[in-house]
Amino acid sequence: KYSTASAIEEPVSPPVQVNYTELLINGQFVKAASGKTFPTLDPRTGDVIAHVAEGDSEDVNQAVAAARKAFDEGPWPKMPAYERQRILLRFADLIEKHNDELAALETWDNGKPFEQAAKIEVPMLARLMRYYAGWADKIHGLTVPADGPYHVQTLHEPIGVVGQIIPWNFPLLMYGWKVGPALACGNTIILKTAEQTPLSALLASNLLHEAGLPPGVLNVISGFGPTAGAALSSHMDVDKLAFTGSTSTGKIVLQMAAKSNLKPVTLELGGKSPFIICEDADVDKAVELAHFALFFNQGQCCCAGSRTFVHERVYDEFVEKSKALALKRAVGDPFKVGTQQGPQIDTEQFEKILGYIRSGVEDGATLEAGGGRLGNKGYYIKPTVFSNVKDDMLIAREEIFGPVQSILKYKDLDEVIHRANSTPYGLAAGVFTQDIDTANTLTRALRAGTVWVNCFDTFDAAIPFGGYKMSGHGREKGIYGLSNYLQVKAVVTPLKNP
Ligand code: ADP
Repeated sequence: KYSTASAIEEPVSPPVQVNYTELLINGQFVKAASGKTFPTLDPRTGDVIAHVAEGDSEDVNQAVAAARKAFDEGPWPKMPAYERQRILLRFADLIEKHNDELAALETWDNGKPFEQAAKIEVPMLARLMRYYAGWADKIHGLTVPADGPYHVQTLHEPIGVVGQIIPWNFPLLMYGWKVGPALACGNTIILKTAEQTPLSALLASNLLHEAGLPPGVLNVISGFGPTAGAALSSHMDVDKLAFTGSTSTGKIVLQMAAKSNLKPVTLELGGKSPFIICEDADVDKAVELAHFALFFNQGQCCCAGSRTFVHERVYDEFVEKSKALALKRAVGDPFKVGTQQGPQIDTEQFEKILGYIRSGVEDGATLEAGGGRLGNKGYYIKPTVFSNVKDDMLIAREEIFGPVQSILKYKDLDEVIHRANSTPYGLAAGVFTQDIDTANTLTRALRAGTVWVNCFDTFDAAIPFGGYKMSGHGREKGIYGLSNYLQVKAVVTPLKNP
């Protein structure tokens, strides 16, 4: 039934080489101070792709010192904004030139379909760099009409040395969301990539230096969370921290920031996003969109529509068609043309997802499709659909981060609003209806940082993204993302002749 099982047996040879595996500190690729490396694995097989320098606190210290020097003495924050803009624009051109190389490395390290990386994600990275390049020379303060004989103005200044910690599900996009606005505002950076996916950020950062970035402005540390990530979060000379990852790790980094130098923190964390299919929905379209909302990127999206609420009038038809679509989903080698779903990222996530599937069955949900691994090598999971899911089941409460769709039934709008909001998370929500009043009611009632109406996972550099409640603090992207990387200074001068 699953179309490409044979492809899983013989992995396609990746059309790319790994050229960068060291830490990037002060514009140079260097070994870790300890000399240690760690393997990064191919999710299709579990085989080693490359051994990567393993950064720890000594390397973080060196990277912070380089970033501090580049901020205090280097040209970056003092450079005319137009020059910074031109470097980011050249970087965007180089991203386009190396589109397929970046995409192939991303697919190899992460397991996502190459077509998705090459046609959506790498182009989005270029778009994002151009968007923030555009802001670089448009950041300015205000003249403030204060009470009294004073000339008052605000200066919008970069914060300084910024620590950024990113996850493995969209390594290049998360790189862009972090690095783009921070550089446009004139900050210097230490970026800690996820230990599962260190490769694409190193290639991209090499291109950024080719575009003219001065040394020390962006330093990249590969390594683990409790070592390198913790060293960065608790560093006394890091002025700001931006983190994307799980809610539990978000709590840890926020504590470390508070206990060290009280650096401000932005957090983009987990979710359990509702997708509400209304009574008037075109069922075929709703099924397709809900399928995409959950299964996109192997279900490894913080904003995945992981609670599909369907009105009772269309519920049975919706479940039947969702099951059929899941059974048709092309799972296989992500380098193969036509593959819609590759392997999960690693054995830990793979086992965790299988555990959630078992709990769904034990709790009495109806398993409509999937329900286990696919093949006997790598981390492939069959697209799984549960119906008759109840709000108190584990699969309806916790973030699964895998290809497991939970379909819940509801009767009326007030009820579904209450149930959709009954979660500690508030990252995103989806609404599918043709009725403008229903759409307006829901968009206002849902407590989430994004509400997609008749669409899902529509992203753009200009659209802000972030969470309510335990899904995070602050917004990334768009004009809102700039404020994370700027300080406001009030300058007050008495007027002699007001
Ligand atoms: P996941 O469980 O999906 O891997 P995490 O939140 O653990 O999500 O990982 C996101 C990022 O946070 C990764 O770069 C990881 O290395 C980092 N990280 C994990 N634990 C810590 C920690 N204790 N301190 C700082 N960073 C951490």
